[in-house]
Amino acid sequence: ESNLDGKYTFDNFIEGDCNSLARNAAKAVADNPANTAFNPLVIHGPVGLGKTHLLKAVGNRIAEKFPNKSVLYVTTDTFTNQLVSSIGNNSTNDLVNWYQNVDVLLVDDIQQLINRKKTQDVFFNLFNVLRQNNKAIVMTCDRPIIELDIEERLRSRFQWGLTADLSAPALETRMAILAAKASANEVNIPPQVMEFICYHIQNNIRQLEGVLNNLVLHSGVNQGKEIDLELARQVLKNFVTEINREVTPEVIQRTVAEYYNLDVEKLASSTRRRHVVLARQISMFLVKQFTDQSLKAIGRMFGGRDHATVIYSIRTVRDLMETNDDIKKALEELERKIRAGHG
Ligand code: ADP
Ligand code: MG
Repeated sequence: ESNLDGKYTFDNFIEGDCNSLARNAAKAVADNPANTAFNPLVIHGPVGLGKTHLLKAVGNRIAEKFPNKSVLYVTTDTFTNQLVSSIGNNSTNDLVNWYQNVDVLLVDDIQQLINRKKTQDVFFNLFNVLRQNNKAIVMTCDRPIIELDIEERLRSRFQWGLTADLSAPALETRMAILAAKASANEVNIPPQVMEFICYHIQNNIRQLEGVLNNLVLHSGVNQGKEIDLELARQVLKNFVTEINREVTPEVIQRTVAEYYNLDVEKLASSTRRRHVVLARQISMFLVKQFTDQSLKAIGRMFGGRDHATVIYSIRTVRDLMETNDDIKKALEELERKIRAGHG
């Protein structure tokens, strides 16, 4: 009994800057659980970024490569519940013995140790026995260990090995994840729809999957209706509140103009002064991301520019976002203001 869900593997865990340390460390443990250089390995990060996925991928890979090793996956809640019922029927020693005999222990969500003094005590002893016997321990936590409010002796042991964090993936990584999930589900989503979705879902891959499931559902209900921007917008409304609020091109233009200290008319003018051009390109980019406007309509509202100019502008901003930190920060700030309804 390992509680492992075979669908979580390293192969289907898309790598990005946000997760490469954690992914590589997890893989290193899985490839060689006897090498306890990183023991324990702790993977931490906010909800929905792949902690459980990686933890189970470790288990699945070990089960496949080392069939005679016993791997146990458990959530901290389950562990607590087992402990509580073992106390109820005087079988705590059996439980502890059983855990002490695993080769690899995978413990999910150790933040659930907080306020559980007895679980912390039992886990402390278990941890020491496993580690002394060079058994691999991998754990996940929703916060850095240093912020975990548990007994000091336990916290310091958790810091003996390697800690790797998962952070929010960049747009490209989100798109790669969505593309992989769409293709695994044999769903076709046009790239611009993917970008639109990933632009709005930033901090939680589980939500990205939720959007995908809803898209599939909607499109299925409508006799295989094509997944387009309109459908994506409808579905996203249930996931992100800012889609609900009507963001208009005017709000975007006003916000950007104010941010760059320009008259809003300048955005639609023929001026080629550098910072006006940049503000104009950024405005076009944001109008595309936040509204339903076609490229043609966007060209019109920025002084009758053609469709190719709009495409070029959007691409320029996208490139700048990757190469220029100031622009990236400016865009984040602008998005916040637009979402907050300023302008
Ligand atoms: P956590 O445990 O951190 O809350 P999960 O491991 O449950 O998050 O991940 C949420 C969902 O997102 C899972 O279905 C997982 O497969 C998926 N996911 C997260 N990160 C990735 C990634 N890099 N590649 C593919 N899927 C991912
Ligand atoms: Mg989890």
